[in-house]
Amino acid sequence: MPLSFDNALFISDIHLTEDRPDVVRAFFAFLQWVPESTQALFILGDFFEYWVGDDLTTELADSVAEGLAALAATKQVQIFFVAGNRDFALGSHYASRCQMTLLSDEAQFDIAGTAVVVTHGDQYCSDDVSYQRFRKVIRQPLVLTALLWLPKKRRIQLAGRLRARSKARFGANPVYIDVNEQTIAAAFACLGCALMVHGHTHRADIHRYTQDDQSLTRLVLGDWHRVGWYAQLDATGHSLHHFAIDQPNF
Ligand code: MN
Repeated sequence: MPLSFDNALFISDIHLTEDRPDVVRAFFAFLQWVPESTQALFILGDFFEYWVGDDLTTELADSVAEGLAALAATKQVQIFFVAGNRDFALGSHYASRCQMTLLSDEAQFDIAGTAVVVTHGDQYCSDDVSYQRFRKVIRQPLVLTALLWLPKKRRIQLAGRLRARSKARFGANPVYIDVNEQTIAAAFACLGCALMVHGHTHRADIHRYTQDDQSLTRLVLGDWHRVGWYAQLDATGHSLHHFAIDQPNF
């Protein structure tokens, strides 16, 4: 039986970094705003710009952990985290400091009577063959363990190199690769959920499909750049919201 909630909030791709104090401020404003009645908050990956191990603490990581733990304690919100391609190394030690539960990919929940699956979404971008090959290697538990054994300096170097590479790639072709719709259809068929919520592509939108006479919805969260995004799901249905980063009004 999947865990069940009456309502939930969803965010992803905040890309928290010291280089974007405006985004950091907007995130803390969001935590303040989260309504008392909220039962669950899902953070669907790329929460941090990069994460190279729970042992590498920063002031930012410390204050985010305090903020999330305070939200869990004061408003009794259950917080869940799904790893993204930038923060898949975020582990149980940091998660427990945040009072959040680490989820495996494509975890399923019953929210307001809807069968929901949550995921970062990068695995559905199957047209990006070289990235999928890289993902397959890097996401193996043994590879991750080996990476986390590297000296801190080396890990920071590696993360910097990966970001430079993705920046260079993005510079050559400034379009985020979207999901492959056949891959999405196959995922829906296999998961048996009515609503999928994911991020990663930075293409905030709500897509509707009919598959085997079933109405399906794919809700895509946007990243937090000039505007930020969150989604809400409760008995009245699902909705996608955005706000200005420099003047967040949720
Ligand atoms: Mn991503």
